[in-house]
Amino acid sequence: MSSYDVDVVVAGGGPVGLMLACELRLGGVSVVVLERLAEVDPTIKAGALNTPSVEALYRRGMLPALREAHERNMEAVTGFARQRAPEGGPVQPPPRFAGHFAAIMLSADRLDASDPGLTGHGPADLIGLVSQQQLEVLLAERAAELGAEVRRGVEVTGFAADADGVTVTTTREPVRGRWLVGCDGGRSTVRKLAGFDFPGTEPEISAHQALVEMEGAESLGRGWHATPTGVYAHGPVPGRILTVEFGGTPADRDAPVTADELQASIRNVSGTDVVVTGVKTATRFTDNARQATTYRLGRVLLAGDAAHVHSPFGGQGLNLGLGDAMNLGWKLAATVRGWAPEGLLDTYTAERHPIGAWVLDWTRAQVALMRPDPRARALRQVMTELIDTVTGTTYFAKKISGVWQRYDMDGGHPLVGGSAPDLELADGSRLADQLHDGRALLIGPDDEPHALAGGYGERLKVVPASFPERPELAGLLVRPDGFVAWAADADQVDLGALKQALPAWLGTP
Ligand SMILES: Cc1cc2nc3c(=O)[nH]c(=O)nc-3n(C[C@H](O)[C@H](O)[C@H](O)COP(=O)(O)OP(=O)(O)OC[C@H]3O[C@@H](n4cnc5c(N)ncnc54)[C@H](O)[C@@H]3O)c2cc1C
Repeated sequence: MSSYDVDVVVAGGGPVGLMLACELRLGGVSVVVLERLAEVDPTIKAGALNTPSVEALYRRGMLPALREAHERNMEAVTGFARQRAPEGGPVQPPPRFAGHFAAIMLSADRLDASDPGLTGHGPADLIGLVSQQQLEVLLAERAAELGAEVRRGVEVTGFAADADGVTVTTTREPVRGRWLVGCDGGRSTVRKLAGFDFPGTEPEISAHQALVEMEGAESLGRGWHATPTGVYAHGPVPGRILTVEFGGTPADRDAPVTADELQASIRNVSGTDVVVTGVKTATRFTDNARQATTYRLGRVLLAGDAAHVHSPFGGQGLNLGLGDAMNLGWKLAATVRGWAPEGLLDTYTAERHPIGAWVLDWTRAQVALMRPDPRARALRQVMTELIDTVTGTTYFAKKISGVWQRYDMDGGHPLVGGSAPDLELADGSRLADQLHDGRALLIGPDDEPHALAGGYGERLKVVPASFPERPELAGLLVRPDGFVAWAADADQVDLGALKQALPAWLGTP
């Protein structure tokens, strides 16, 4: 018999590693996160969360903290609009912005608000302006509250996997776990040492994102702009700048980003003569787009940037990784606890790989459209006209927001495979409130389905409740990650499908 220090070792305590640690603790297993950095990385990266991410955090009771962060950031956005108002003149409100595709701005005024895909997500339809650093701080607090051990200043240097577990070597003492998950970012040590295939496309751009102090900022337009020499974005907060240059990748991605380098890049793509006088935080990136062919090799798994890398256009990477963590957490916990049905852990790759592949292509399409050559410019004009329609804007907004994401699951009801709607219950609470503890949920007004739930004990929470806004719904089986595994309308309650779904996701009663 092997002896273990912990059930799961997570390499990397970025947002995905921390989110996974929280989910594993909810699933009742022990976890150690090994993080190389002593503090949360202050580098500017993601600035917003998409709908599936906010839904996931809302379902875990983190809505008040997200709302507070969102409101603080909205104040900064409004402050930027105020700064740019003509002296003594009226403050122009920022344009109602619904995202961008390849620097082609989407106007929220063109959105079809009645589109069913854009509603029904509760607060996730309204909140999202939360930065990666804010989220990492919140997740670190939550991981500690839930009893995950986060060891900072510890680098994973290698590991040896055998049939029973994985011994992880670090810059401190080794740690033995039953499983190892590499959440150690785009240059993942775990991915490389485990030998995961990582095919994809070569990069072609050199890009920067930074928060700077500068003189002459008023000559820069607000929002995203394609120019004859590249692309730049300015805002939505004061000093935030992003530049994209074609004609080669960064010579040294790790060298510190200097004010001179940023100034030259901004001048090159914007054609202005801004002077960068200070750099608060800066990073450079490119558009290397690669994805592991499987997210699991034996007892070693990957999640987040360790499993897929791509350019940040369209704000997908963090969100994609959080989705991985939500999907993997309960499945790995069930496997450790011994109740996972056959093949459950392999549904992680099956469900998440196609979503990752879509994200890679979404970013590749944007790089192709950003190229400053006559053919790309001509195509861009066509895309701009298409996007500037109600149908076009609504299509792109749904893609960017992630509301299209579903998993391929058995079952005839249209809700099966999708994220559970944020239904109001008769007592005034909402469905998300029932998911705080990370258990699967069988909920609805009909008693018959509940009678099948006996024997699942702690794995399944059964809640008799009616849905005033959807009186036709007789019941829902929601997986711990918030996705619907079974649903029935009152006039067609298919108990046979529920009898299949329960053991398929929750194992033997
Ligand atoms: C400029 C920029 C803008 C972006 N904008 C957006 C956006 O708008 N929206 C969006 O969704 N995404 C965006 N992203 C992408 C997003 O930042 C990443 O997808 C996200 O950080 C991935 O999280 P992660 O936890 O998988 O990896 P990381 O955030 O890279 O975290 C990995 C962690 O592992 C640690 N680590 C690495 N190696 C080891 C080791 N050997 N041992 C121990 N610890 C280790 C690292 O220190 C790090 O803390 C952006 C990225 C960049 C660069």
